Amino acid sequence: MKHYQKIIEDIYVEVKNTDDSGKVANYIPELGTISPDNFGINITTIDKQSYGIGDYEKKFSIQSISKILTLTLAYQLEREKLWERVDVEPSGNPFNSLLQLEADFGKPRNPFINAGAIVICDVLISHLKNPKEDFIDFCREISNNPNLNYDDKIAKSEKSTGFRNIALCNFIKSFGNIKNDVDVVLDFYFYTCSIAMSCKELSTIFLFLADDNFITHKNNKILTESQAKRINAILLTCGFYDESGEFAFRVGLPGKSGVGGGIVAIHPDEYCITVWSPKLNTNGNSYKGMLFLEKFTTKTASSIF
Ligand code: GLU
Repeated sequence: MKHYQKIIEDIYVEVKNTDDSGKVANYIPELGTISPDNFGINITTIDKQSYGIGDYEKKFSIQSISKILTLTLAYQLEREKLWERVDVEPSGNPFNSLLQLEADFGKPRNPFINAGAIVICDVLISHLKNPKEDFIDFCREISNNPNLNYDDKIAKSEKSTGFRNIALCNFIKSFGNIKNDVDVVLDFYFYTCSIAMSCKELSTIFLFLADDNFITHKNNKILTESQAKRINAILLTCGFYDESGEFAFRVGLPGKSGVGGGIVAIHPDEYCITVWSPKLNTNGNSYKGMLFLEKFTTKTASSIF
């Protein structure tokens, strides 16, 4: 039994006082209003022990971390057919790049860059009767948490400035890989990114990727073991924008970051850990988040390698 509370407290103190050269994202104006000093950590083990420190119960905008949840539901609905619409290769380009799509004929490199997540949202819209309601209900079921919701202010803020995503969606549609109306797809995409969760809520919701025996309180299995393994594999290779190699190198866990400053990382068969610190490095990943997790997997000898 590891003493997680003591371990995260020690690293918290060490990292909190580190000079942080990052910047809070402000291309979504509402995100720029968040205090850069927020810093929280929560770890939940597969036997549901939870340990937190700092601002671990404060909700923040999960942004691209939601891409794991949209992918999970789309994978459940489409199974292996899903990969005809989106690939599973690292992009080597920024998360909002249009460049590669031209050469790849509108098939996004992976579901964790914006282009891929927009296609996944399109897939969901084709399946769901009320996409926003059905998707948030899905998130509430996985986490057994009726308090999860979209943040209207953040979604509207992104909608008013999301020119690159608007361009991406239209560009992909020109290749025929968006089947629904672009405005409907983008509205759904912006809302999925706006979901607000705390570190504690995040480290609980992703237990289904850590625990092979996970079932919801309604007795549903979310993914097969093979599907969960595959999502973890894509997280490891594509979860950190153009810095996924660096994250695997320094931390050694599958995970995903968001421009709200959150990072979730999963240790299959052991735990899920979340760190939130809004200042981002030049690749768009939380500066202190990565540093914390590097120290954490080193101290607990729990990289998957
Ligand atoms: N909503 C953000 C965007 O599309 C998500 C980016 C992120 O967290 O990586 O720009």
